[in-house]
Amino acid sequence: MRLILIGPPGAGKGTQAAFLVERFGLVTVATGDILRAARQAGTPLGLQAKEYMDRGALVPDEVVIGLVRERLSQPDTVNFLLDGFPRTVPQAEALDGLLAELGRPLDAAVLLEVPEELLIDRLTGRYTCRSCGAVYHLKDHPPLRPGVCDRCGGELYQRSDDSPETVQRRLRVYREETAPLVDYYRRRGILRTVDGTGTVAEVTDRILAVLGAAPR
Ligand code: ADP
Ligand code: AMP
Repeated sequence: MRLILIGPPGAGKGTQAAFLVERFGLVTVATGDILRAARQAGTPLGLQAKEYMDRGALVPDEVVIGLVRERLSQPDTVNFLLDGFPRTVPQAEALDGLLAELGRPLDAAVLLEVPEELLIDRLTGRYTCRSCGAVYHLKDHPPLRPGVCDRCGGELYQRSDDSPETVQRRLRVYREETAPLVDYYRRRGILRTVDGTGTVAEVTDRILAVLGAAPR
């Protein structure tokens, strides 16, 4: 199965991706995670991406398309889940071209819909593991031990772009640059819209239902 998850920042893409990749045996390709790892490692890609990420802007299309092309061309990504890519129409067009070349078409584009007030609450309360990227929430999904990842014992931190000012900018970027993808995938007949409010398990159940998969 080849899936993309679309939705504004904080919609729960990473949270749901963790379940879906286990369930369907997919490889996750999360461009935000790849860019954060590159920043941490201080690579040229990471240094280039940093200034865009810190301001809540999108990294230029050619940079992100290049890294997704490289990753999806590898043999282990026959079945994948894309989280955070594509985020612009040119990225979606480049993805279509690449997948046509590889003979690996998309099965579904799952849109997670969440109202903005809830997104702000989710993002400003989010804690992310520095080692494995697992996500937690101060109130809704706290770790067992404060500051420590349940999954790998890594250190939890608050992403600098989850500050209230940068969150506002990222939501605006989503509305202006990413929301047009909803129509793009609707026209291709593969859009599956899911209500992203409620508990993590409720959202998972809705995603499984729109994919026509057996319940948990
Ligand atoms: P995205 O990858 O779309 O930016 P995340 O999966 O990182 O979003 O989730 C953002 C924040 O919201 C995290 O703190 C996560 O723990 C929390 N969260 C995700 N899904 C839910 C949910 N259904 N209910 C409450 N909190 C959630
Ligand atoms: P995310 O982890 O998906 O919230 O992404 C964090 C940041 O990484 C975004 O605000 C962008 O600066 C950058 N980024 C991630 N994915 C993309 C993409 N597909 N296109 C452009 N920039 C991206």
